[in-house]
Amino acid sequence: MLGLLPPNGRLVEGQVLFKGRDLARMSKAELEKVRGNEIGMILQDAMTSLNPLLTIGEQVGEVFKYHQGVTNKAELRRKSVEVLEKVKIPAAESRLDSYPFQFSGGMRQRVSIAINVALSPDLLICDEPTTALDVTVQLQILKLLRELQQEQSMAIVFVTHDLHLAAQFCDDVAIMYGGRVVESGPVREVFENPVHPYTEGLLNAVPSLSAYSERLVAIPGQQPSLSNLPPGCRYAPRCSMATDQCRAQYPDWFEWNEGERRVACWLTEERLVGCH
Ligand code: SF4
Repeated sequence: MLGLLPPNGRLVEGQVLFKGRDLARMSKAELEKVRGNEIGMILQDAMTSLNPLLTIGEQVGEVFKYHQGVTNKAELRRKSVEVLEKVKIPAAESRLDSYPFQFSGGMRQRVSIAINVALSPDLLICDEPTTALDVTVQLQILKLLRELQQEQSMAIVFVTHDLHLAAQFCDDVAIMYGGRVVESGPVREVFENPVHPYTEGLLNAVPSLSAYSERLVAIPGQQPSLSNLPPGCRYAPRCSMATDQCRAQYPDWFEWNEGERRVACWLTEERLVGCH
């Protein structure tokens, strides 16, 4: 979306629409204006996303230097302190001259959040932002993200493998399999009434504290290789309900509730009738 990686393929069709503009077809210079200003991105491990050779102050200050043209050192420091305080870094002024290795994992992730919300973007992409953190710090970071989201009226795309986190944090969820969204809708509805067999399999695989079972339920088989996808539905080799049509043809979207709920599975209608 943001062209951060070297191209490892080519775009043959489709668009990445953001506020009516196609990110996939923007020039490098146009994309540079979108990054940071309009879309921020928080990566999984701040230890590797921050530069180990620059102080925290230099890295936060860069945002104002390159995007707002601030060159006055005192002004850069003032703005950097302000944004570090916003993400609740204690004694922010004195921490400006520290290096990332002198911060704990949670504090480093706060710095990374500070850099990415400094310019009040409209969208913040969080790619597994709490995976490298322990559970209590995870909660603090989620709380902070929620506060910032409300304060700055910003949308968040939260990428996660953790269904509990998605249920706690998100309004809407899109379940992906083999590189495509297979089911989407309001998080509560999708988790309470999953329709796609993969969503159902994922939810069945979540261990329960209240119901004891000898064995955990797992989805049989392996994820397909993205360079060698099966024809038809990508989930068919693992799906107990697969038919010849599933193996031959990729399923169309089935939509209801004015498109709020969407499922890509040939059996959606049948399964919905069975539920009601
Ligand atoms: S389209 Fe067929 S194979 Fe794919 S999830 Fe639905 S039932 Fe299973």
